[in-house]
Amino acid sequence: MSESHNRICQLFNIQYPLIQAGMIWCSGWELAAAVSNAGGLGIIGSGSMYPEILEEQLIKCKQATNKPFAVNLPMLYPDIDKHIQTIIKHKVPIVFTSAGNPKTWTKLLQENGIKVVHVVSSVKFARKAEEAGVDAIVAEGFEAGGHNGRDETTTFCLIPMVKAAIKIPLIAAGGIGTGRGMLAAMNLGADAVQVGSRFVTSTESSAHENFKQYILASEEGDTMLTLKELTPVRLLKNEFYTQLQSAYQSGADKDKLSEILGRGRAKKGMFEGDLVEGELEIGQIAGLIEKIMPAGEIVQEMMGEFHQVLNEQKNYL
Ligand code: NDP
Repeated sequence: MSESHNRICQLFNIQYPLIQAGMIWCSGWELAAAVSNAGGLGIIGSGSMYPEILEEQLIKCKQATNKPFAVNLPMLYPDIDKHIQTIIKHKVPIVFTSAGNPKTWTKLLQENGIKVVHVVSSVKFARKAEEAGVDAIVAEGFEAGGHNGRDETTTFCLIPMVKAAIKIPLIAAGGIGTGRGMLAAMNLGADAVQVGSRFVTSTESSAHENFKQYILASEEGDTMLTLKELTPVRLLKNEFYTQLQSAYQSGADKDKLSEILGRGRAKKGMFEGDLVEGELEIGQIAGLIEKIMPAGEIVQEMMGEFHQVLNEQKNYL
């Protein structure tokens, strides 16, 4: 594949159409810079960072790479205005917005020379994001970890439907962690892919070692989408997940679920390594991940497999 003809590579000025997802508590400057230095696009997940932490992260990221990188901004974030100011001040080239209305910030960011990508989980929201003027869309299927759509549309079904509905570049996410998966998603109509779970287990990820090892030990069927009444989230099963299931069985309402969730569970599980009480956000592809690798090697391995399988496919017919 000639990457230079790829719409996403052109838009972001990167070598490979391979993007690392912005993930709270897991993707700081070390991971983002490593992925960008390897030719993909690294993303700092700002949802778990206080404003001064984000600023520090941006300064370090710019010191660690001269390649483009991005920031993911969940629009539910309480101090979003401050994050926006910091992003503009530090001339971040690309912002991925998620969990909110893309109309709110797209224009302001673009007026400041920033490319805006919005994350959606349905055709309806993909159309809305295109109307809001974003530069590209991430369509994320049911397989994905962390916050997810309510409709349970899988990546395999979502990508062709979104592709048919929009004209702007499309990035597939959810269930992609190998070169084969990347090729499959691009055959379905995506211009590029976004990979989260695989990079959670990279050397440079800020996820706690306990969480990384628990992911490696997990198998098919070990993650579930839950808490649809609040914000749907895919979690690795653990004691906290079992507590939630018991609450559902005894008819817990939204308030009760919210009380059980409490505050800071994601930090506890993913960053502090509490595998019992913490929230462990990861995608279905976790069952396929077998070792911790440097992020740059993950990029190289995925691109190598992508090209190898693409070559093999030439002999299919
Ligand atoms: P909680 O409300 O349970 O906890 C907030 C956490 O964020 C705390 O651990 C806190 O750190 C930290 N934090 C960082 N900045 C702030 C701030 N300005 N005000 C308050 N807390 C802050 O939320 P979650 O941990 O579940 O999620 C945090 C953010 O990440 C939200 O914006 C959410 O939308 C986003 N998110 C995105 C996901 C995705 O898949 N895209 C998945 C889950 C969450 P401390 O404990 O050190 O005070």
